[in-house]
Amino acid sequence: MKTIFEPFRIKSVEPIYVTTYPERVELLERAHFNPFLLKARDVIIDLLTDSGTGAMSSHQWAGIMMGDESYAGSESFYRFQSAVYNITGMPHIIPVHQGRAAENILFTLTGGTGKYVLSNTLFDTTRANIEYSGAEGIDLLCAEGKQMNSEAPFKGNIDIEKLRNFISEKGAAAIAMVIITITNNSGGGQPVSMANLKKVKSICNAHQIPFFIDACRFAENSYFIKLREPGYGEKTVLEIAQETFSIADGCTMSAKKDAFANIGGFLAMRDEKLAEQSRNLLIINEGFPTYGGLAGRDLEAIAIGLEEIVKEDYLQYRIRSIAYLGEKLDAENIPYLKPTGGHALYLDAKGFLPHISAEHYPGQALACALYLTGGIRSVEIGSVMFGKYDQQGKLIPHSNELVRLAFPRRMYTQSHMDYLAEVIVEVFKNREQIKGLEITYETQYLRHFTAKFRPIEKN
Ligand SMILES: *Cc1c(COP(=O)(O)O)cnc(C)c1O
Repeated sequence: MKTIFEPFRIKSVEPIYVTTYPERVELLERAHFNPFLLKARDVIIDLLTDSGTGAMSSHQWAGIMMGDESYAGSESFYRFQSAVYNITGMPHIIPVHQGRAAENILFTLTGGTGKYVLSNTLFDTTRANIEYSGAEGIDLLCAEGKQMNSEAPFKGNIDIEKLRNFISEKGAAAIAMVIITITNNSGGGQPVSMANLKKVKSICNAHQIPFFIDACRFAENSYFIKLREPGYGEKTVLEIAQETFSIADGCTMSAKKDAFANIGGFLAMRDEKLAEQSRNLLIINEGFPTYGGLAGRDLEAIAIGLEEIVKEDYLQYRIRSIAYLGEKLDAENIPYLKPTGGHALYLDAKGFLPHISAEHYPGQALACALYLTGGIRSVEIGSVMFGKYDQQGKLIPHSNELVRLAFPRRMYTQSHMDYLAEVIVEVFKNREQIKGLEITYETQYLRHFTAKFRPIEKN
């Protein structure tokens, strides 16, 4: 059969509150033109993030009831540990309440002033934790990864030449670590090939630089490797994931992504001394090493989620449903980052709204238009999220102005995708009327979460 259907049945439903256009005009103004500040009940299709928003399986819900809430040595911890070990093979597994807590521990211990952390592309919380430690985060994405329309299979790869040059220029001692984000969330959800990971590892080995993986979407990355990388077609996703982790010295993970959990994460590594130091920080900030800021029931949900996420019928439906949306946009020549990614589709706001300059945040303007037209919530990944100011206070724009439509796992069906495509096409037809925005309030770190905006009078 040709049709790829959602490989699950629906046992419990959550009604959607359907707002009207006039309501949304008022709601968006009250949210200061920042979709993060909207109430979730006022959103029709919520594509703000795929983080912690997925639908748990009946098996996971059953596991929740089995959670062992003992303070120390909980059964649930051992189930969690064994599920993580099965995939990563890492001897030291440290639960945390979410990915950024793992990042905070890791970079507090390995970062610091004068150090560099090299990556294909750092995610926003990763970069913030690196910078907060005093170190500098450096993105060395491959050239094809920066081309909006390139259909290259592994646009998440790090540029090996640039990596080598950076290390020889600054000296290996200044490099705290290389951390590769799979898939590359901020760069379009694009995968990283096994060949690229292996090259990075051999360079790191030669210079004794630790090599970590930001593993949030390891299953989607493994599935792309199976589909696209020669020699992997016959391997299972689990085998590919195991091989991926076998290359690394450690990893950070948000279980809110590829573990189907609503909360949780872990830090895992091979180095015993670093693990001991990490557990010391964990106890101060998160909790005892067998729960790390989580309830026993959360550890159960993660353990079961990790078994479900590597199932190939799920991954096929997941990747295919986003490609399906891409095909609908292709039919109208709507610009987006190609090819469609693992967890999201990234609209190209620069191409969509060429009449709005970077200073007036075309991505944010597009995210607002999607909400007004159809109640769709998305997130800007551009100069609001990553822009910086020079010494004169002038914006240094980000290289891309993207709007990410991130899909919660197992949550929406094909007809939601059809509605979404219709909304995007409608916004595209009326794009010339969309106005840019200016910031009226912002914070120093991660400003996109809380910034306030107002529309400019004239573009
Ligand atoms: C979500 C995410 C993180 C941070 O995880 P949280 O659970 O949100 O703290 C880090 N890296 C990447 C690539 C992510 O997608």
